[in-house]
Amino acid sequence: MTEYISQAQIRSQAWKFYFVAVAWPIYIFLLPSLYASYRPWSIAFMIFPGVYLFTWMSCLMHECWHKYVPNINNDAFYYLLSYMLVTDPQMYKILHGHHHSQVNTYEDVEFHPLGRIKNLTLKKIHNLLEIIFGVIWTFGLHMFIVPRHPKYKAKFRESRRIVAIALWFIFYGTLGVASAKVFSLKGSQVGISLAINFWLCAFFIHQTQMIEHAGLITKGDWNQRNVTTRNLRADGIAEKLFLWLTHNDVREHTLHHTVVKIYSRPFPGKVPMPQEAVYVSMTQYLAILRQMLTKGYSPDEHV
Ligand SMILES: [Zn+2]
Repeated sequence: MTEYISQAQIRSQAWKFYFVAVAWPIYIFLLPSLYASYRPWSIAFMIFPGVYLFTWMSCLMHECWHKYVPNINNDAFYYLLSYMLVTDPQMYKILHGHHHSQVNTYEDVEFHPLGRIKNLTLKKIHNLLEIIFGVIWTFGLHMFIVPRHPKYKAKFRESRRIVAIALWFIFYGTLGVASAKVFSLKGSQVGISLAINFWLCAFFIHQTQMIEHAGLITKGDWNQRNVTTRNLRADGIAEKLFLWLTHNDVREHTLHHTVVKIYSRPFPGKVPMPQEAVYVSMTQYLAILRQMLTKGYSPDEHV
């Protein structure tokens, strides 16, 4: 386990959790004034540092679920980051284990909340909404489906959902009001800037997950399914920019499934990838999306 990455290297990751937990609220406090000053050009700030910090929080929340970094309070950061990501922490707790065991099948409810959609028109509409709204769409479906799902409903607690929703409003409400008061802004400037930024973040974070798993349905055992997970080639300008913006999550994602106990994401190139690992370019990924929109099914769907 430690032959590729040392314990010292893993422990050296701890500062990132503290850094994003402080940087994100500061950014949210400043964002409405950036939007008021720069209007359409504020989209540049929404991408950096906005999307950059949001995708970072999402990666680190995921690392807390796996308890990869031993020298932080994983539970505390898991909840804090989940609330700042505007998610209900119980959902990921309920679903992420099966994302690993059922990866690249319709049984993976984290990635395929609706399972297999047989009607092609509905499937195309679903694919379009998933591509445009990203995790807003998939998380919205989780909120609806998990409390009713035969496998998961016993684990779901409505009280936890109410706490999560209350904390989203307290966190973003407090920062929004403070920002409006300090910078003398209108409520609409605060609301619109947060909404646009949240959509951009939801869009980008889900693109990483879609590069890895979209339209990818594999027959076979766990090992066979793991290795079909896609990775983004790191050799073009668009690919390099995307990998930088999203913290290399897609660079060697196959390893996160094949050797899930090793914390490999911050250390690309350290752990050998399986020989059969699948790499796509951004152009190849866009072709997969195009086929999901025009035909409903992607070329990687083997049911
Ligand atoms: Zn995982």
